[in-house]
Amino acid sequence: MIRLSDAAAAPPFPAAAKDALANAQLRKNVRHATNVIRGKRAIVVHETPDWEALRDAAHEIKEHTLRYLDVYLEQFEANCIRAGGRVHWARDADEANRIVVSLLQEWREQEVIKVKTMTSDETRLNDALTDSGIAPYETDLADLIVQLGHDRPSHIVVPALHKNRAEIRALFQRAMARPDLGAEPADLADAARRFLREKFLRVTAGFSGANFLIADTGSVCVVESEGNGRMCLTLPKRLITLAGIEKVIPSFADLEVFLQLLARSATGERMNPYNSIWTGTTAGDGPEEFHVVLLDNGRTTVLADEASRETLDCIRCGACLNACPVYRQTGGHAYGSVYSGPIGAILSPQLQSLQHSQSLPYASSLCGACYEVCPVKINIPEILIYLRHRLVEDGQAPLAERIGMKAAAAAFSGPAMLSAAHGAARLASRPFERDGTLHGLPGPLAEWLKTRDMPALPPESFRQWWGNRRPREESESSSAAARSERGGNPRAGDKR
Ligand code: SF4
Repeated sequence: MIRLSDAAAAPPFPAAAKDALANAQLRKNVRHATNVIRGKRAIVVHETPDWEALRDAAHEIKEHTLRYLDVYLEQFEANCIRAGGRVHWARDADEANRIVVSLLQEWREQEVIKVKTMTSDETRLNDALTDSGIAPYETDLADLIVQLGHDRPSHIVVPALHKNRAEIRALFQRAMARPDLGAEPADLADAARRFLREKFLRVTAGFSGANFLIADTGSVCVVESEGNGRMCLTLPKRLITLAGIEKVIPSFADLEVFLQLLARSATGERMNPYNSIWTGTTAGDGPEEFHVVLLDNGRTTVLADEASRETLDCIRCGACLNACPVYRQTGGHAYGSVYSGPIGAILSPQLQSLQHSQSLPYASSLCGACYEVCPVKINIPEILIYLRHRLVEDGQAPLAERIGMKAAAAAFSGPAMLSAAHGAARLASRPFERDGTLHGLPGPLAEWLKTRDMPALPPESFRQWWGNRRPREESESSSAAARSERGGNPRAGDKR
């Protein structure tokens, strides 16, 4: 069964957004963090002369890969096995969790260190591990903050973006029993380092996600900024990687394109400080045993739909979140899924075959900012509209929209209906007119008017104005003709 974290039980976006909007501190934190990343991204994108060519190349590579996904996945599998790795295929989240838990149990591991693995948030692996008596430790700093705070990630790249430094300090003081902890970034980084270093040196099983799976070499690539990932990938005796099937790219050379785009789009850096690439196992160097779990969990359903397939092109850079005026107000929790922002609004409903998260395609102003910044040129606004269309076809559109559209369809069904609708609207709105604008409309329109001015309806529609104008013009031109016949216009009446 396809399960996307706990998205199926999440409240609809409008309700969750209302709660988020009431949290002034959260909005301030999100706005500040996204502003900083946007500023850095703008500088490094600007200085890259072939940025648009890189975006085009990335889009083409992804489109090609998705068209031949089965071929490249099998190529990856064969090359990974040849290099000493083992490959498992998981149809859904529960199957992926079962594979990971049974491997760790087989190795008699009771703890595991984890890095860069949003896909394991999708499957809720930590719950499955804890239920089986295995303690998971997140080692990416932001993921550690989320784990220690029993919180949920709110951003694809910076999962603890909703927290400010003071909140993180209070959390560390509590969770690490460090009441004397200083407030400087260096103090917090030092506390996290000490906390994690002990785990890196003790725990013998590692777990990671993947930014890219490279078909022609069977390699896995993880990019990160802290170096914790490098520790997690190299120190343990055994390593498991969980990756969505869309993470595969055809060749090692393709990394040239994606590594330039990803770092600049995600964190505004020219290159990620740590780019770990490994291929199977090597005696005396790194983990002795290496397994990859390839996860479907609804991805092949998305793949089958040509109109929205490019959703799977995403390289999880988070640039669309930072650019989105909706995300920048609400933060990520309101999306009710590990995938938030514009990409979450198209990915989460599709992975769940539009059975859950149906409000998300409406969580957008369709301004197009997401498309402008997306390094792989996913046309998110177009997919949002397409998904809204599918929801309407399935009879799943929001009630207010269905009523509104039915009323609009009736009003536009003919000139007489349109004229009657206009007359009725004009009559109904007259009590609310003041100084040429409408005030104090009832129901949902009252909310709408809180932040907008709406002009009063004109006394006649264009069609009525046009209809009334012609008799006026005709009568004006016949009086002019009559005047000229009486000699008022020498040219028109020139018979000489
Ligand atoms: S949709 Fe594009 S901009 Fe958004 S996270 Fe994915 S790759 Fe980045």
